[in-house]
Amino acid sequence: TQFFLDRINQHQALNCFISVSEESALKQAKAADIKLAKGEATALTGIPVAQKDIFCTQGIKTSCGSKMLDNFIAPYDATVIEKFNQAGAVMPGKLNMDEFAMGSSNETSYYGPVKNPWNLDIVPGGSSGGTAAAISARLVPAATGTDTGGSIRQPASLCGITGLKPTYGRVSRYGMIAYASSLDQGGPMARSAEDAALLLQTMAGFDPKDSTSVDSEVPDYSATLNDSIEGLKIGLPKEFFSEDLNGDIAAVIEATVNEYKKLGAEVKEVSMPNLKLAIPSYYVIASAECSANLSRFDGVRFGYRCDKPADLTDMYTRSRGEAFGPEVKRRILMGTYALSAGYYDAYYLKAQQVRRLISDDFNKALSEVDVLMGPVSPSTAFAIGEKSGDPIQMYLSDIYTIAINLAGLPAMSIPAGFADAKPVGLQIIGNYFAEARLLNIAHQYQ
Ligand code: GLN
Repeated sequence: TQFFLDRINQHQALNCFISVSEESALKQAKAADIKLAKGEATALTGIPVAQKDIFCTQGIKTSCGSKMLDNFIAPYDATVIEKFNQAGAVMPGKLNMDEFAMGSSNETSYYGPVKNPWNLDIVPGGSSGGTAAAISARLVPAATGTDTGGSIRQPASLCGITGLKPTYGRVSRYGMIAYASSLDQGGPMARSAEDAALLLQTMAGFDPKDSTSVDSEVPDYSATLNDSIEGLKIGLPKEFFSEDLNGDIAAVIEATVNEYKKLGAEVKEVSMPNLKLAIPSYYVIASAECSANLSRFDGVRFGYRCDKPADLTDMYTRSRGEAFGPEVKRRILMGTYALSAGYYDAYYLKAQQVRRLISDDFNKALSEVDVLMGPVSPSTAFAIGEKSGDPIQMYLSDIYTIAINLAGLPAMSIPAGFADAKPVGLQIIGNYFAEARLLNIAHQYQ
């Protein structure tokens, strides 16, 4: 723990952490020693696991990357945090992220952008950019992320680490600050699939406090890592390999798929005709849900309150106006518009119908093959500032990740190679609750 705390201190310039809890981490490390001595240790006892600052931590600030929650100390732990505590993991601090997890570059954070350890001028991806950069720079061995439209997989890809977005409902959302509730899912980020398996083992499971949590058994994710993948059927969705994809990235993906062939996999092309509708559908649904979820930040009960409000309306307006950043405001405006009377059918309902078509595409493809493979992001990490003024460009970079959230499927990003000296991830998409298989497939390559 001390080793990692020292590294976190030495590399503050990366801006990975929003808060570091040195004192409580050292206390937890001492408690872990006792557990160890008593023979009560789990695989994570004494292991530093940092948390994305979207998970509520009792007594430690939970900002969600926003000025709105800069003064917020949660009175309770998220279920995920409780589970890590029970496992005896050590929590060295809370990781930087895009404000309310809205973004693909970590540049919307109130606490400033995170730097990619591979090249300090480029973004680490987002919204779990602090997590990805911290693991990549070895400031922590592993940490959590959340993925609404790619926020685990895209930063994992851009920083050269491993990230897994579980099936919707596999990991409890209780105490995980909501962005778009029908899409949000927490998951592990780590150096390898082997480590991610240990984290997921701790995070997964039914939680009566989350109404969308699924009550199905959690398999032993480490037990099947070494299973053979002989005869594995891999589908390559042809829409993932269009001209929008950078050629160097396509070459890395192709080379990685060839490695899988050498391991005994069979490869076949599949088609996802509705994939092109994923971005418009996602940005309507995510914005609509965020506009509803973020209405609780009104300056009344918790979070930021403006100075000397004249009346209630003034308090709402100024508190929200002063504390939300431009991207969050943009989403709230888009979402409120899409949900307003007269427009609901044209936007939100339509987007939900398209969502079903996309989900059907995946179901059909996954009835023909075991997993799908493709890129995570159409480009490698871009320069800090390059896209932050152009929201459409930023949204378009989510093309390969968001459809998976619309369908609720599990998917991973694993380090596959480099293009232009920047990391490139391979995305592996599985059927519902096939996390063990995904980890196995990833481990066989790693
Ligand atoms: N980039 C996407 C967005 O801004 C996804 C973010 C996420 O997965 N939290 O909505």
